[in-house]
Amino acid sequence: MDSYKKQSPRTVTILGSTGSIGTSTVDLLKSSPSDFSVCALVGGDNAELLATQARELNAEWAVLNNEEKLPELRALLSGTDIKTSAGRKAVIEAASIKVDWTMAAITGAAGLEPILAAAKNGGHIALANKEALVCAGSILLDSIDKSGGKLLPVDSEHNAIVQALGKSKLAEVEKILLTASGGPFRTFSLEEMKKVTPKMALKHPTWSMGAKISIDSASMANKGLEVIEAARLFNLPSDQIDVLIHPQSVVHGGVLFRDGSFVAQMGAADMRIPISFALGISERLKTNCDRLNLAEMAKLDFYPMDERKFRPLALAREALTIGGGAPAVFSAANEIAVENFLNRKITFLQIGELIEKTLEQGKFSGEITSLEEVFEWDCFGRQAAQQFISQGSLNA
Ligand code: NDP
Repeated sequence: MDSYKKQSPRTVTILGSTGSIGTSTVDLLKSSPSDFSVCALVGGDNAELLATQARELNAEWAVLNNEEKLPELRALLSGTDIKTSAGRKAVIEAASIKVDWTMAAITGAAGLEPILAAAKNGGHIALANKEALVCAGSILLDSIDKSGGKLLPVDSEHNAIVQALGKSKLAEVEKILLTASGGPFRTFSLEEMKKVTPKMALKHPTWSMGAKISIDSASMANKGLEVIEAARLFNLPSDQIDVLIHPQSVVHGGVLFRDGSFVAQMGAADMRIPISFALGISERLKTNCDRLNLAEMAKLDFYPMDERKFRPLALAREALTIGGGAPAVFSAANEIAVENFLNRKITFLQIGELIEKTLEQGKFSGEITSLEEVFEWDCFGRQAAQQFISQGSLNA
């Protein structure tokens, strides 16, 4: 990672402040308030938590996506100097304010425009949202490049790979490894997976996360998004990106170098560790996260991934190889699938079936060069997936 001239206090914005990644970021900022000056905290609906965070961090702006919640937010912040606004336009405007460091943690495709707005500023973008890289990878990377900014991956696996890479060049890399805990259904048979409920799928064995990513982790669509994300970040094809099941979630990712050395990053399953690595930019910050006790752990297990059982991962690799709009369609179909699984309109195994059927509908050619194309493919994926559900034409 390039060295960064530390200016104190560093200006910071959090997109998705009220979510799981957002609250972990707030936690880190609260532990060294004099090092950071908070420009904007942006949430979706949760006025109460946003107001609490804005007060705690003395933010300049508190912004919600839901306009109906603006009066509540204003009332909660009355008597303070904190400025408030709401609505989609306000979210994008808040993301556009020039800051040194932005946490991009709005879930799903909704995060795309705010991230691109932040990317134009030349600051550091700590990227938690996966969909932006998956759907609009080259557009986002070009925009950050042009503005002189820097992308800092927050996803624990990609963050681990950045740490393992250190100052090595990509040409020295033979393969990278993403680990997966295996989720709650690692030991389930396909027959058992037919009966999975949203409550069972939301219960992740090692990580505590938002609803969408918890379901994605159970189906391995999350690992699929991560494979595409890794391909974009490290400029590697699918066959140089390995995925292994590692139930303890201690080794988060690693790099196999061409000399046969394998360098991996380990740490507690606590997102504050990769977030703090990104927040420190070029210097590790002190955190109170759990320390690993290797002697107590004694043993780490690794198993090959069964991509037949976890179909969404194999489909993500196919989408990556097809290229063009296919990753955006994969992501859109998956978002619709997760929403409908949570509402009990489709079964757990139908998530993979729905993504597969939706991808089959696309006539993909050429790379994506504009945001309009991204939105067109996203819209195509959502509509096609929704249609399969409305027609009741899923079998799994
Ligand atoms: P959550 O669901 O917990 O939080 C999502 C955040 O986005 C909330 O603050 C929510 O606001 C906000 N939000 C949702 N829609 C909008 C919108 N249209 N405009 C503005 N804000 C909006 O998700 P996570 O924190 O778990 O995940 C965030 C992102 O990070 C995802 O893309 C996920 O894949 C990625 N990620 C998460 C990890 C984790 O451990 N949680 C690990 C690695 C990556 P509100 O709650 O107020 O409605």
